[in-house]
Amino acid sequence: MYSARTSKWVRPENRSTEKFWWLIGLSIAAILFTALLAFFFYRSLSNNLVENRKHFLSKQVELASNEAQRNFNNLHDDLIFYANNLDNKISGDDASTSVSLDENRIRRLMNNYFHLIDTLVIETGSASFLYHVSPANYFSKKSSNIKIKSINCADCLIANSNKGSIKILAKLNLKRYFADHLVNYYLGPNSFKLIYEDGILYQLTKGDVYPNVRLEESVYSLLEREISGGLRGDYEGQLSLDSLPLKTNLLIQYPFSLVDMDKNFAFVFIQERASVISGIYSTYFYLFASLFGMLLLGIFFLSKYFKINSENNFLLEKKSEDLNQLLRQQTLLLQQSKGFLYYHDKNWKFYQVGENVKDVLGYEMKEFILKEKNELMGDDLDAFFLAVNNEVKLKKDYYYYETKIIRKDGEAIRVKIFEKLFYNGHGKFAGGVGICTDINDKYIADQELIRSENRLRSVLNSLPDIIFIYNNEGDYLDYYVQNEELLLHPPHQSLGKNIKEVLEIDDDNRVMKVFHRAVRTGKMQTEELDLLLDIGRRYFEVRFFKLDENRIMSVARDITGQKLWEKGLREAKEAAENSNKEKSSFLANMSHEIRTPLNGLLGITGLLYNTTLTSEQKNLLSIIADSGDSLINIVNDILDYSKIEAGKMDLNFTSFNFRPEMERIINIFSGLAAEKDILIELEMEPSVPDKIELDKEKLSQIFFNIIGNAVKFSPHGGKIKVLIKGEILYANNLILNCNIKDDGVGIAKDKLPYLTQPFTQVSSLSNGDSKGTGLGLAIANKLIELMGGVLQIESELGVGSTFSFTLITPIHTEIREVAPQENQIPTNESGTFENLADGYPLKILLAEDNEINLKFMVMLLGQMGYEIDVALNGLDAVNLVKEKVYDLIFMDYQMPGMNGLDATNIIRTLPNGKAVVIIGLSANVFKEDIEKALNTGMDEYLTKPVKIQSIVETIKACSLSLSNK
Ligand code: ADP
Repeated sequence: MYSARTSKWVRPENRSTEKFWWLIGLSIAAILFTALLAFFFYRSLSNNLVENRKHFLSKQVELASNEAQRNFNNLHDDLIFYANNLDNKISGDDASTSVSLDENRIRRLMNNYFHLIDTLVIETGSASFLYHVSPANYFSKKSSNIKIKSINCADCLIANSNKGSIKILAKLNLKRYFADHLVNYYLGPNSFKLIYEDGILYQLTKGDVYPNVRLEESVYSLLEREISGGLRGDYEGQLSLDSLPLKTNLLIQYPFSLVDMDKNFAFVFIQERASVISGIYSTYFYLFASLFGMLLLGIFFLSKYFKINSENNFLLEKKSEDLNQLLRQQTLLLQQSKGFLYYHDKNWKFYQVGENVKDVLGYEMKEFILKEKNELMGDDLDAFFLAVNNEVKLKKDYYYYETKIIRKDGEAIRVKIFEKLFYNGHGKFAGGVGICTDINDKYIADQELIRSENRLRSVLNSLPDIIFIYNNEGDYLDYYVQNEELLLHPPHQSLGKNIKEVLEIDDDNRVMKVFHRAVRTGKMQTEELDLLLDIGRRYFEVRFFKLDENRIMSVARDITGQKLWEKGLREAKEAAENSNKEKSSFLANMSHEIRTPLNGLLGITGLLYNTTLTSEQKNLLSIIADSGDSLINIVNDILDYSKIEAGKMDLNFTSFNFRPEMERIINIFSGLAAEKDILIELEMEPSVPDKIELDKEKLSQIFFNIIGNAVKFSPHGGKIKVLIKGEILYANNLILNCNIKDDGVGIAKDKLPYLTQPFTQVSSLSNGDSKGTGLGLAIANKLIELMGGVLQIESELGVGSTFSFTLITPIHTEIREVAPQENQIPTNESGTFENLADGYPLKILLAEDNEINLKFMVMLLGQMGYEIDVALNGLDAVNLVKEKVYDLIFMDYQMPGMNGLDATNIIRTLPNGKAVVIIGLSANVFKEDIEKALNTGMDEYLTKPVKIQSIVETIKACSLSLSNK
């Protein structure tokens, strides 16, 4: 995991200033060091020069002194030699002649010491001769009687011959001699030669001597002391010549002495000290100055360089920091975005790859570089190269590409490649650097989004509503419209336009307000809209809601029907109420009309049954009774269907024996089946329990309808199979699989869906007699649905049909008592009603207008042992009650004049009418009628055809209540 390095950022200005001061300090130190070095160098150099100079001068002064002394000694020796020589020569001769004096020698001698000897005096006993050479080299001789002894001369040299007869005196010009002598020694500029003679320093110039030397006192005394001690020496001191200002000079002296002269001599060579070092001073100054200048220049350039360098460094540092930052961010980004960096050459060969490749593809860096491309990209490789080579051909700098890449673990993932392509100077492809990012999750999500959008699109397309999609400004973006008739314009024309434009409304319009509210609140907003279309005025309910941040969807539903209904609600309601009333009374009337004669018919059949009959007659009678019951059921069917339709059908679950019930139903059809030679087979698998709990009547009705059809639509000799299977569902429930199969005429496939619609008849019978209402299957289907099952019909024309359905029934161990079979005709032997009056004596009034019913009731009650009063209408009944006290009144519902309800109403007001039990009789089975009857004051209500059992029970109950009073 990458951890971001906390970078310490040093302010560049501070760092640069710091460095600058460092540089200044270093420069000053360098300058000081150089100056110090220069100073010491200069000093040692000047000292060295001074020493050298001293040494040179010392050598020169020594040479000069020794030479001067030697010359002088030579002169002395030459004089003595000459004196001796002369002495030897003239002894015996007349020495007074000049020839004998050897004047040539004298001349030579004087010439040899031309500068030293001023005058030469030769004393030869008696005579003396003076010789002099003038500066113009003119030799002169003078004879004198002067005695050398008498001559007092400071600078004179006297030589005596060994025999003592010759004396020679040389008057010397020492200063001229020294001056000439020293000319031979060149000391260089700014140097002087002095002569010390007995405590006085002289400067010798051009043979003249000027005693104009001033020397620093201390140096002078040291000099004097050392010369007088015979010591050579060198000194430095302030000296001035010729009244010039005092200057420091080097003084080098070398003492010497002259024969016979009692004086201290020394040559003193002087060199102005400054002049010795002036050469190096200036040279050195310039050298130093130029060095210094170069140093300063160096420092300047260095500082300049440093400044630029530091600026560059700063920039570089900043850039590298930025670059590092960028790299860190990039690595982080790549890590975050599941990507890695790679480089490849012109042959698309990788030569470098980022370490993130491990996270993305699972490969180590080296592994990835060596990996073959077709192993990485599989069958996508060709398409990839086709695409990128095209980019290279077009000299593109960048390209994006999405493809799949196979990870090391074999899983193919979706990646996005972004690459920068490089070209060399000649424009040839040189390679590239790219980023490969794992976009698999997004890709999968996108795919799912596309799929879900497609699903949504197909759902939206299948909706009957009109759907539009807008942006938040209300511009149409998309639409899903089934019926373009419901629009003002074809939907594609609205795209890009605004709602206001299309509906020709402004912002104040309700629709726009609602739209903006939906955008603002994000909540669904509903508004009604009416449009005048080509097909007339239409009303719409429009719902606006937010699809996402940028889109709004509207769903408009055509509510014109509802609107119209609302508009005409009152009339419609009234009309419906009226028609309902009419329907009810029609159904009531119809059932009354059918039930009344049936009631009589069945009643009479029942009575007939109790007469003496053969067993065959009894059998036939019982078939008549069954058929009658079935007929009643048909009538009930019609009523039932109406009830089911109106949601008024209630199920009455009871527990009953299933097999006998099935046998009873099949038995009903036995007559017809025997007639057509049809075999009805009933198979109930052992899994079907004996007793089941269902609405027995409804279940019978279902079987009755379906088996009835099978019999009806089976040809002569056909076969019908009723198969019932049971399947335990959990512990307490049973699934009943009921299957009725016939080999009859069959039904065309395209007609099958319509069979469960009421009043549908499709199969034609060969005899052309359909004998049905087209309600049977409709009722059966409804009842099956009511009991939670589904009716399935399979059929083939000419082959036969199979009707099957499944019902669920609870299984109870405890079996409820089943009500006695109502349609069973009670037998005489059972003694259920004969002589009933003996046990239950009652005064009975019968109010009935229908002749058959009247006869039936009179006969039945007569058989029971009752003598009854009869009223033919309500009014008669009321009058009878006024006169007589009755225990029980059977009151027909519908009678001419005064009906049963009105009669009951009045009777209840009569003194005799308070306690009497009034039982209503009617063919009407509507709940409202029953309620109405009971509310009016009737105690009980029996529907026609009235069951004998019901009358028996009613009588028993009435009698019981009377005896309890
Ligand atoms: P109906 O009382 O007229 O028989 P149904 O609803 O019971 O009315 O039946 C509707 C129609 O379905 C019949 O008219 C007949 O054409 C067809 N049908 C019903 N059962 C069968 C069957 N088992 N075989 C052939 N056709 C049948």
